[in-house]
Amino acid sequence: MFKLLRSSTNIGLRLKCASVQNLKSRNIACLSALPDTYQMLQKTCRDFANAELVPNAATFDRERLYPEEQIKKMGELGVMSIAVPEEYGGPGLDYLAYAIAMEEISRGSPSAAVVMGVNNLYLGAVMSSGTEQQKKDFVTPYTTGEKVACFQLSEPGNGSDAGAATTTAVAKGDHYVLNGTKAWITSAYQASIAVVFATTDKAQKHKGITAFLVPMDSPGISRGKKEDKMGMRGSSTAQVIYEDVIVPKENILGGLGSGFKIAMKALDGGRIGIAGQALGIAQASLELAVDYSQKRIAFGKPISKLQAIQQKIADMALRVESARLLTWRAAWLKDNGKPYTKEAAMAKLAASETATFCSHQCIQVLGGMGYVSDMPAERYYRDARITEIYEGTSEIQRLVIAGQILKEYAA
Ligand SMILES: Cc1cc2nc3c(=O)[nH]c(=O)nc-3n(C[C@H](O)[C@H](O)[C@H](O)COP(=O)(O)OP(=O)(O)OC[C@H]3O[C@@H](n4cnc5c(N)ncnc54)[C@H](O)[C@@H]3O)c2cc1C
Repeated sequence: MFKLLRSSTNIGLRLKCASVQNLKSRNIACLSALPDTYQMLQKTCRDFANAELVPNAATFDRERLYPEEQIKKMGELGVMSIAVPEEYGGPGLDYLAYAIAMEEISRGSPSAAVVMGVNNLYLGAVMSSGTEQQKKDFVTPYTTGEKVACFQLSEPGNGSDAGAATTTAVAKGDHYVLNGTKAWITSAYQASIAVVFATTDKAQKHKGITAFLVPMDSPGISRGKKEDKMGMRGSSTAQVIYEDVIVPKENILGGLGSGFKIAMKALDGGRIGIAGQALGIAQASLELAVDYSQKRIAFGKPISKLQAIQQKIADMALRVESARLLTWRAAWLKDNGKPYTKEAAMAKLAASETATFCSHQCIQVLGGMGYVSDMPAERYYRDARITEIYEGTSEIQRLVIAGQILKEYAA
């Protein structure tokens, strides 16, 4: 781990340029407790976000513009494949690094962060369940940001109930034939590869689901209209329709019937990423509220002097730091090979509700200026809301947490 940060290889240089001395500890107080490498990573990502994302985020949102150029630069930086080992083309970092990078990228543009999150989700699934050949063919080309990947689990009829997949894959000689519709697919319009979850044995229910690696230019694949979303408008979300799509048997990921397990394992890790994404929105909301409150004069003094405003700032900061520690703990557990399903669900739940809370409070601190698009507060609120829905709703996170707690207490 971190070999590349110290090496002078090309990828290493992407993340190497930061100087620890320049890190402003006021941004993330508890970060100073982390090893230098993570501090360097945080500063590198923050500098990138300030230069490339913050100035463009409103345009991505307003014009529903996919941040193509910035995603390529994020690939050069190494964050599109952050936990992928060096031998497969990634920077070989870990999930703590992923959580930190996601927060910084999302603080700049949550739309860019969701594209990064889904790419890393896909790569995580292939790295954990792929054969050596699959890692070469289906990981390395998606590490640089030149090409992006998507993760196709949801369908029009099932989101939370992911085990009820109706997309079918039927064996025919040396290949499978896929038919059905996947829904809500992030990067549907840009992705050149997908991990697609389809049922190969309906009678087995979720145990009959298989994961396939499917090139998105395969004949028989079409896309639905781009969803007109409340937030995350710089990323595309659409249905993907499969009509007699031929997929070679060697593109099965992890064996017949193991798709549901692969999806759930990938989502455990993915939730650490969504927690990081939500933290970025919460942190941006906090920073904006503090800055505005110090400049806005009411009744002859800055509103930051009003206790009502100070209460809001305190509550926001408390929730951000608590959710960040939960997120880093989940990442640390994963990085150290310990069980982390409950902790990842807690981190995602706490961070996403914190993002909604902080962006809501930020609007309140800004008053009328919080409600118009001249300021980013209303965009933060719109972007925050989805973090409570995708990769498992808040209700599903609570079910996961309660399920794990009940098991622990019964043991
Ligand atoms: C912008 C966006 C991007 C997305 N990107 C992707 C993607 O890239 N890939 C992908 O596969 N999916 C993606 N999704 C889908 C997302 O993961 C689902 O929308 C989410 O899992 C919820 O599923 P659903 O919409 O079917 O809601 P439902 O499952 O219909 O849930 C509706 C409500 O019922 C509640 N509910 C459902 N079951 C239970 C239960 N057992 N107990 C308590 N409450 C319950 C839910 O919490 C929710 O409040 C995306 C969605 C959006 C909006």
